[in-house]
Amino acid sequence: MLIAHKIALDPTNMQATYFARACGTARVAYNWALAEWQRQHAARKAEPTLPAPSDVSLRRNLNAIKREQFPWMFDVTKCAAQEAIIDLGSAFRAFFEKRGRYPRFKRKGIHDSFCAANETGTFRCDGERIKLPVIGWIRMREAVRFSGKLKRVTVSREANRWFASIMVDTDGIEPVVQPLDCIGVDLGITTLATLSNGMDIPGPKPHKALLKRLRRANKALARKRRGSRNSVKAKRRLGRLHARIGHIRKDALHKATTMLAKTYRRIGIEDLNVRGMSRNRCLARAILDGGFFEFRRQLEYKARFYGATVVVADRWFPSSKTCSCCGSVKAELALSQRVFQCDDCGFVAGRDHNAARNLEHIAASSAVSACGETRSGAEHKPRVKRASKKQEPNSEGVA
Ligand SMILES: [Zn+2]
Repeated sequence: MLIAHKIALDPTNMQATYFARACGTARVAYNWALAEWQRQHAARKAEPTLPAPSDVSLRRNLNAIKREQFPWMFDVTKCAAQEAIIDLGSAFRAFFEKRGRYPRFKRKGIHDSFCAANETGTFRCDGERIKLPVIGWIRMREAVRFSGKLKRVTVSREANRWFASIMVDTDGIEPVVQPLDCIGVDLGITTLATLSNGMDIPGPKPHKALLKRLRRANKALARKRRGSRNSVKAKRRLGRLHARIGHIRKDALHKATTMLAKTYRRIGIEDLNVRGMSRNRCLARAILDGGFFEFRRQLEYKARFYGATVVVADRWFPSSKTCSCCGSVKAELALSQRVFQCDDCGFVAGRDHNAARNLEHIAASSAVSACGETRSGAEHKPRVKRASKKQEPNSEGVA
C-alpha cells in the first residue's frame, strides 16, 4: 500500500537555497518538455511517421542537449529534471484518460517543488533526518511513521517553508481491533461532526478565529504599492497565515478521522452533494472550511488501513427528516430547525444527532446484509419530496 507522508523540513540557509535552485531546474525542465511535446505533436501532424512524444523520449532529448544548453542543471541532482519530465508524462496520461486537465506551464513561485525517485538508493531516511542527493542530510521535524520501502520524495515550498512528501510502499500497517461496532457521523457546519452516540467533534473553525488577523493582513497588503519590496513582504505574511489556517483545519480532520477508523468497525456517513451545496453562497464558506470532501477521503483511506468499513448512505436518504426512533419520515424540515421532533412517536433529538443515529442504523443494517441475512429495520428508504438543500439533484454526478 502506498502512503504519502508529508513532513516539515528544517533546512539550513544553504540547503534552502539549494532547494530553490532544484525547484527552478525542475520547473525549467518541465516547461521545456511541455513546449517540446507540443512542438513534436504539431510536427507529427505534417509528418505522421515521426514518433509520438513521450516522457521517455523527452528525457533522452533533454539529456542530449543539457550540457550545451542548460549547463547549470548539473548544479543540482539529475533527478530534479528527470522526475519533472516523468511528472509531465503522468499529467498527459491523466489528460488522455480524462482524469485531468491539459498540462500547463509552471510559474516561478507557485507550487515550487522537485522530486527524487529512490530506484538506486538516491535518498534515505534515518530517524529525524533525510539524505537527499547532492545536498546531503537535512533535518526533519519528525521521523517517518511507516515502515517499508521509500519510493519517492517530493520537496516543496509552502508559504516559505519546506516540506518533504515521502511516498512509502508500506509492508503492512498494524491491524487494529476496533473496540466498538457501529457509529453514524453527521458532518455539520457549526460542529465538525455529530456522532450517533451523542458526542460532538467540535470543528477548529480556523477561519473564524484567524479571520481578524487575515483581514488585517489583507488590508495591509492592499495599502502597499504593487510590486514593491513591502508588498512582497505583506504577501508573504498573508501566505503564512493562510497556510497556518490550512494546517489547523487539516490537523483537526486527521485527528477525527483517525479516531473514528480506529474505534468503530462500521461508520455510516452521508453522501453529501458538496458541489450542489457549494453553490449556495452562505453554505459554501462553511463547507469549504469544514473540508467535507477531505473528511470522506481521509476516512475512506484510513478505514482501509485499519480494517474498518465506511458505509455511505444513499444520496437521497432523508437522514435529517427520518425519525431515528420509529422510522417515520417528515415531509418538511427547514434547515433552520435545529431540533427534530417526531409527530408519530414523539421522539425528540437534536437535528444532527437524529441524522447521525439514522446513519448508524444504515451502517448496522449493511453489516447484517453483508453476513447474508435479510436486511431488517433500516430497509425503509422512502421517497420524499426534495425540500432540503442537502438533497439537491446534481447533474454533474458524484464528486
Ligand atoms: Zn418517531
